[in-house]
Amino acid sequence: MTATAEYTVDTVVVGLGAMGAQTLWRLAQRGVDVLGIDAFDPGHAHGSSHGESRIIRTAYLEGTAYVPLAQAAWKGWDELGRESETQVARRCGSVMIGPPDSRVVSGAAESARQHELAHRRYTPAQLSAEFPGHVVVKNEEGLYEGDGGVVFPETAIRAAVRLAQYNGARVWTGTRVRGIIPDASQPRVWVTDREGSAAGTGDRAPTDGAAREQTIRARCVVVTAGAWLPQLLPDLARRLGGLGVERRVLAWFPVTEPDWHDPEHTPVFVRAESDGTAWYGFPSLDGGRTVKIGVHADGASGPGVQRGERVDPDIGPRPADAADAQRLARLAERLRGIDPTPSRLTTCMYTMTQDQHFLIGPHPRVPGLLLGGGFSGHGYKFASAVGRALADLAQQGTTTVPIHPFRPDRLG
Ligand SMILES: Cc1cc2nc3c(=O)[nH]c(=O)nc-3n(C[C@H](O)[C@H](O)[C@H](O)COP(=O)(O)OP(=O)(O)OC[C@H]3O[C@@H](n4cnc5c(N)ncnc54)[C@H](O)[C@@H]3O)c2cc1C
Repeated sequence: MTATAEYTVDTVVVGLGAMGAQTLWRLAQRGVDVLGIDAFDPGHAHGSSHGESRIIRTAYLEGTAYVPLAQAAWKGWDELGRESETQVARRCGSVMIGPPDSRVVSGAAESARQHELAHRRYTPAQLSAEFPGHVVVKNEEGLYEGDGGVVFPETAIRAAVRLAQYNGARVWTGTRVRGIIPDASQPRVWVTDREGSAAGTGDRAPTDGAAREQTIRARCVVVTAGAWLPQLLPDLARRLGGLGVERRVLAWFPVTEPDWHDPEHTPVFVRAESDGTAWYGFPSLDGGRTVKIGVHADGASGPGVQRGERVDPDIGPRPADAADAQRLARLAERLRGIDPTPSRLTTCMYTMTQDQHFLIGPHPRVPGLLLGGGFSGHGYKFASAVGRALADLAQQGTTTVPIHPFRPDRLG
């Protein structure tokens, strides 16, 4: 028979991926009695935060409300880099390319205008001259900003968890949270360590003799479970109109002209195609060997199209196949100085809200429960600011980080 042990802490962070690792670090930095739990070893490749690089953009095409959050996030990445003495991010600029009326270009232009961000507009000829790694056609324009760059996802998670532990946080890895038990005075987290990965950077959940399950009582529970949020809080997911977990594929292509993809003078990019596809890519971050691209929103039809393919996060996305390779190779033809046959592919998960904007803040009904989820495929760049905001809310109930537009109670 399974025995259940009881455990009490001030704050529990459930899920130590992009958002949870940053939250844990901020809470530990302030001396809070905090426990972080992850089913795997933080920095793993089973969720939404692997694949070596994520784009940072400030002139935000998805909405002007994100600009102050991106600015706050850059400060957070710089601080994490300094404190951990690790390169977690790098500025290399970003360029949005597409028809001038595409959301990619016009959305970024609107953010730049409203927030008076330094940027440059490019004609097709200027784009081709400045960024020879891109094939540009005559109806395409560009918007460049210096405040774009890259964050290194696995490195940033590991750095934040390491710093959190150094500052006194407890971390249980290979430990799965089975449920959150709402309680008006003190929410509880039901944990078992029976499944999950082998032990990693943290401890396994203490088993207290025969006990293989724990109930943790906490003043505050922060749920940053990524693609597992809908199964951990199914009522909430329904109430918010549904959270869809979708498959995406990343591809790396060999570089034949390293100078055209050198991060010293090549920015990250997002491109809009005439069929509505928005895709993105990076300069070469491995010394001129490969570049990575991916599809954010697919407007094409036919084999390998990445649109709405649902994933059970416990099973994981279907492995990448020849159709995925072909789809991404078609997009890679819009780049120069690469071999358009991918040398490597991997899959990952998006967790989509109904409006594709984030969920950051208190659970609409359960006191003591905070959420950071539904990042809809564009959340990583903000994780350092989201972590600070969730730590503020856990500790003092308010925050100056500009997360108000993303409060979960705006939906449903
Ligand atoms: C292919 C791809 C490309 C992307 N590109 C960009 C980009 O360029 N720029 C950008 O800003 N964003 C990008 N994103 C989005 C960004 O990566 C995600 O928004 C972000 O990683 C989500 O972080 P998260 O903390 O919500 O989830 P995760 O980082 O996946 O963390 C969730 C964690 O919770 C743990 N967990 C879940 N359930 C439990 C449980 N029951 N018990 C214990 N632990 C649990 C998991 O093990 C995991 O570690 C991209 C996403 C993908 C998939």
